[in-house]
Amino acid sequence: MEIKIENAVPDGFTYERAHKIMHGRYGSMEFLVVPMSAEDQFQIQLYADVEGSAGKDQLFGYLKELQQRHSFVPYAGYNGKDMVSVYVSSKPQEDKENLTLVISEIEAKCQEYGIHNCCPYCGQERPVTAAVVDQIPTLICDSCGMQLSNGGGREKKENLPLGLVGAAIGVLLGSVLWVVLGQVGFIAGIAGYAIVFCGMKGYALLGKELSKTGIALCVILSLLMVAGAEIVSLAITIYRELGSLFAPTIWDAFGWVPEFLKEQDVLFGVGKDLAVGYILAIWASYASVKNAWQQVDESQRPHTVERF
Ligand SMILES: [Zn+2]
Repeated sequence: MEIKIENAVPDGFTYERAHKIMHGRYGSMEFLVVPMSAEDQFQIQLYADVEGSAGKDQLFGYLKELQQRHSFVPYAGYNGKDMVSVYVSSKPQEDKENLTLVISEIEAKCQEYGIHNCCPYCGQERPVTAAVVDQIPTLICDSCGMQLSNGGGREKKENLPLGLVGAAIGVLLGSVLWVVLGQVGFIAGIAGYAIVFCGMKGYALLGKELSKTGIALCVILSLLMVAGAEIVSLAITIYRELGSLFAPTIWDAFGWVPEFLKEQDVLFGVGKDLAVGYILAIWASYASVKNAWQQVDESQRPHTVERF
């Protein structure tokens, strides 16, 4: 296939051996030709402002006709957005001639129908050049190429105050599970995990995006909330055990909490609950926090853009 591709390159086109693509300009338009070794075909790609063009229907008619007219064109179509693609079956000795023929025809038709190259990233009708973005061959305009390689092209959506509100609601919901399980007599790492998980979900939902700051805030909130949930749990226990005599309402029970914590064995019990709870919670949520953190890293990584 290697040798065949080199023989197939239309005049004025360049073959990028490292990326196995051909690109070049024919008349007024820039084309990509992607060899597909497995199918024994070439794919001609043309990014163009078909949607905004009055000649759209005529172009579709032409593509249909192209497929019927040439036996070496198994498919000619449009992706419904911005790319015309025409497949050309490989026939040794004829590839260069067939590719040149199809490319020159498409260019002439586009001229006739007033269709021009456009950049698939910004959709603007601008001069484009061939490039490989994150290993995918494409055409791209100057400003999109710069933006992508600078890690841009991704606007920040995060709303930190709303995210915090979401996180607070989330950890509160998670804490309910901690209290309920605590009442049944469990110290459950799963509840700690639920607090962290609900916190991050809440942050991402209301804050639109979970950043590293957001993750850190959720972890801090969760750590505080675990202690809070333990106090609530203790108050509920006091209310249930001594309710009728000393703590007629749950709020009275809260008032008793500091008093009870002076008791050596209560303090020891709460301390043990918290220690085991924290260890289990950290153990259970470590993976999902790490995962969320890595996802942020991933989304901030600049794209690899190689332009030709
Ligand atoms: Zn662009």
